[in-house]
Amino acid sequence: MAESIAATSKLSNGRTPAYVADRARALVTPLRLCVLSCRPRARNLVVAAKTETLAVIGSGLMGRGIAHAAAVGGFVTLLHDVSAEALARALAQIERDLEEGVKRGKLAPQQATETLSRIRPAQDLEAAAGRAAFVIEAVPEDIGLKRETFARLEAACGDDVVLASNTSGLPISEIARATRRPERVIGMHFFNPVPKMKLIEIVRAPQTGESAIARTQAVARRMGKETVLVRESPGFLTSRMNALIGNEAFLMLEAGIASAEDIDKAMKLGLNHPMGPFEMVDLVGLDTRLAVLEHLERTLGEKYKPAPLLVRLVKEGRLGRKAGKGVYEYPEK
Ligand code: NAD
Repeated sequence: MAESIAATSKLSNGRTPAYVADRARALVTPLRLCVLSCRPRARNLVVAAKTETLAVIGSGLMGRGIAHAAAVGGFVTLLHDVSAEALARALAQIERDLEEGVKRGKLAPQQATETLSRIRPAQDLEAAAGRAAFVIEAVPEDIGLKRETFARLEAACGDDVVLASNTSGLPISEIARATRRPERVIGMHFFNPVPKMKLIEIVRAPQTGESAIARTQAVARRMGKETVLVRESPGFLTSRMNALIGNEAFLMLEAGIASAEDIDKAMKLGLNHPMGPFEMVDLVGLDTRLAVLEHLERTLGEKYKPAPLLVRLVKEGRLGRKAGKGVYEYPEK
């Protein structure tokens, strides 16, 4: 029932999920990587070698971006989501993003078609994971859900697989403990929007193996990304640094040291940050930032105590762009 509703309802681009899924399937046909012709049912299928196949679990904001980057890197990318509608929306968005790239001259039309053809919707997590040598999980930030997902992935995967989590800050070691081979589990923290952002933070838990690290670095390189290697610790590297800068900005604003506009301007023009801390927190969400700071305060101490002004703005519902108002107002929302 849910699938039939999903198949006929319109997406924001006016297309139905069924149309998008059909188009994705149609685009797979021209791909000629490696033909398995031994079994009659598989005779006409074009199948990629396992080492060239990557699975992405969860096709939301991050998962679809990761799938896009993986396909650009030449991987046949199996994209799975528990929701057929979310999967169809993700494919439609990737197609729009690729079209946009063509319009801006970032890639040739042929490259866009080939990239899209490498992304294959997968209804079944076990089937997708079983065909891939590298799996990246991007389901919601919930430790129970991540652990359950990793236990299922391990049961479906071969021995040589690397299982990476795109968690923003959950302990990789706790996710890894849901598996029997924790040395294969690693953090791969992407940034939004994934196709454009250059960095991946690779997070090594105490039990992560050297081979998993090397293979993760190689996958990141194929995606055209730079990496940093971070030891597992709260907030990893970027979230911890960013939360502290952002908190200091709220403390300075509250103390009347400068206006929000001038604090942002100073950081951009004086310190060469591409965005000011208030522009950034309005984009990230003030509630998200508050949750990160509370977690850092609990785990690392008083230094990360959220600024009272941030706490007040969250209570007032000023959550950032998504709410139409945060530090700044966004009347168009
Ligand atoms: P999202 O809500 O946009 O997407 C999550 C997707 O996972 C949804 O499509 C949902 O249907 C799907 N899902 C839920 N349960 C599932 C299951 N059991 N199996 C398969 N799919 C399932 O979330 P997001 O923003 O893409 O975040 C995903 C992960 O990436 C989180 O851990 C988050 O902390 C992390 N992350 C987010 C950002 C960001 O800027 N949003 C940045 C870095 C990392």
